[in-house]
Amino acid sequence: MANKLVEARIELALANRIVAHEGVIDAFGHVSMRHPDNPNHYFLSRSRAPELVEPGDFVEYDLDSNPIKDPGVGQYSERVIHGEIYKARPDVNSVCHHHSPAFMPLLANRIDYVPVFHLGAVGGIKPPFWDQHDEFGDTNMLVIKAEEGASLAKALGSGMMVLMRRHGVTVAGTSVKDCVFRTCFSARNAAYQVQALSIGSTIESLTPGEAHLAGSISSKTTGLTRSWEYWSMRVAKAGGAVAAPKKAKPAVAKKPAAKKSSSKKKRL
Ligand SMILES: [Zn+2]
Repeated sequence: MANKLVEARIELALANRIVAHEGVIDAFGHVSMRHPDNPNHYFLSRSRAPELVEPGDFVEYDLDSNPIKDPGVGQYSERVIHGEIYKARPDVNSVCHHHSPAFMPLLANRIDYVPVFHLGAVGGIKPPFWDQHDEFGDTNMLVIKAEEGASLAKALGSGMMVLMRRHGVTVAGTSVKDCVFRTCFSARNAAYQVQALSIGSTIESLTPGEAHLAGSISSKTTGLTRSWEYWSMRVAKAGGAVAAPKKAKPAVAKKPAAKKSSSKKKRL
């Protein structure tokens, strides 16, 4: 059980680093994961640039986005995005929120996202737009209150991506790898779409049938594994491989035992 959690934390740290290294996230944005053994909890890093996140940085939250115990560190202000989506969507096990530069022209001009190549299908066809101002008026644009997160989760509906006007994007996944896959390839698609718009007024997107068939690639383990290995290799080549958390040092554990025997000798 403990190993499973350690592995999950390593995977989630790598997920944050991958999405950052692929240019989707910068100093802001985050990837979270539902607790593998407790569906009412989730893990999200302490407030830190995602490219630097380590397995030991994750804070465990309940679905109201309250830490299970005082983490004693700064926390992301937009964590309700994650908690409210996990609350509304039992099928979602990982969430990524980002402000990808590739998406910004679409978000500023309220242009629907459409898949312009097969891998872009993982973002769906015309995923919903959500504008915080519609319901909450002038805010600092950050999704901080529970009701704001719940409103966003409602806009996501049963889809896997919701566009946040003049802010960013939130992507859901059935697993961490699925979430990263959808995040990276939807951002790539957004970049292609904006480039295509800049050289022509019309875009030929995938048909609904093509999008459905092509979008199912994320449910194939081979596609996820192949991409994950590729992105992981790129992170490692850049010197950002995730170090496994340090195990309890056996030498330290042995020392008290040794002392015990020596004290026993003294008594004898
Ligand atoms: Zn944000």
